[in-house]
Amino acid sequence: MKLKINGERLWSSLMEMAKIGATEKGGCNRQALTDLDKQGRDLFVKWCQEIGCERRIDQMGNIFMRRKGTDNTLPPVLMGSHLDTQPTGGKFDGVYGVLAGLEVLRTLDETDTHTLHPIEVAVWTNEEGARFSPAMIGSGVWSGDFSLEYGLQRTDKGGATIAQELERIGYAGECPCEPFPIKAAFELHIEQGPILESLNKPIGVVKGVQGMRWYDLVIHGQPVHAGPTPMEQRHDPVKAAARIIQQLYSLADEFAPQARATFGDINVSPGSRNTVPEKLTLTVDLRHPNQEMLKQMDEKFRQISSSVCAECSVQFEILDEWDSPAVEFNKHCIDAVRASVAATGLAYEEMFSGAGHDSVYVSRVAPTSMIFIPCENGISHNEAENVTPEDITSGCQVLLGAVLTLATQ
Ligand SMILES: [Zn+2]
Repeated sequence: MKLKINGERLWSSLMEMAKIGATEKGGCNRQALTDLDKQGRDLFVKWCQEIGCERRIDQMGNIFMRRKGTDNTLPPVLMGSHLDTQPTGGKFDGVYGVLAGLEVLRTLDETDTHTLHPIEVAVWTNEEGARFSPAMIGSGVWSGDFSLEYGLQRTDKGGATIAQELERIGYAGECPCEPFPIKAAFELHIEQGPILESLNKPIGVVKGVQGMRWYDLVIHGQPVHAGPTPMEQRHDPVKAAARIIQQLYSLADEFAPQARATFGDINVSPGSRNTVPEKLTLTVDLRHPNQEMLKQMDEKFRQISSSVCAECSVQFEILDEWDSPAVEFNKHCIDAVRASVAATGLAYEEMFSGAGHDSVYVSRVAPTSMIFIPCENGISHNEAENVTPEDITSGCQVLLGAVLTLATQ
């Protein structure tokens, strides 16, 4: 018998959860470790317990709800994502991956389907990074990328620590926050970009996550009068920046279609219309899903900055702000997702995630991959975030297939 998830039940659970922290504009404000987050966690745990799942909470407040397998000495297949939202977040980012995991377990439960491996749904603490920085701290401590001490001492704007807030809402668990053996991990998520919608395909088979590098390029020139100073006698940081930006756009074309180059913030000082600026600071964000390509982009960025600044006789420095290497997901997990989509007959696109996810950290220690569904106009981190019930159902059906494949062998 081919199992079918119950799309209506999943949708109504999503709508029920969305009431917790509902905003006037139809979004959700359920930030990490607030009273509302506690309510959301409690509701999720209750739903899982109703179908006989066992609860584990670790020292970072990550929740693991386990449905037993027929051999519980075997490592579990993991599903899950996060329940926290941005301050003006939507109803689907993160929560979809958690409640779709629940829907998979409900489907197995009601059909009395047994799996060899246990199956768990994970809820990772503070994925969004909105209340506590950095983002994905729950999964990041779990994977060993951050120490427990570092994670617990992160503070919000009011000075409350994660440790205090976990204690306060009753989610300071006792299980060690560290990796345990996992057969396979899957995270189902809305795409948060426009690609699937523009291709009119309901499923994204996600093969990895873009690598990203953040820099501040600081260019130092000489402030002079805009009138009397001939163009060729200036040390103008804006002239250099304009050429560098131009060449970096060409660099993105060279590494197209997957490269990204973004200049989100440009500042000049002193900031007067009739003075050549003394200093210009440009944020540079370079991304590529292939680590080798990203490395080449990094090298070319440095060469371009150096040669252009020499040409324009200005000084420059590059400050490295962040380096997040590209992630390649596990082949067996990707194959299981692909086979599951093929079995449903749905159209799919193989793609890379442009955003960070808990799966980035999980993939460091366990075989992992992700599944995407389209979201309306590619909009996310926004109260207007929207998806169709059909796509919600399709994504969960694909998740079920992939999980079953790996949990039964
Ligand atoms: Zn998310």
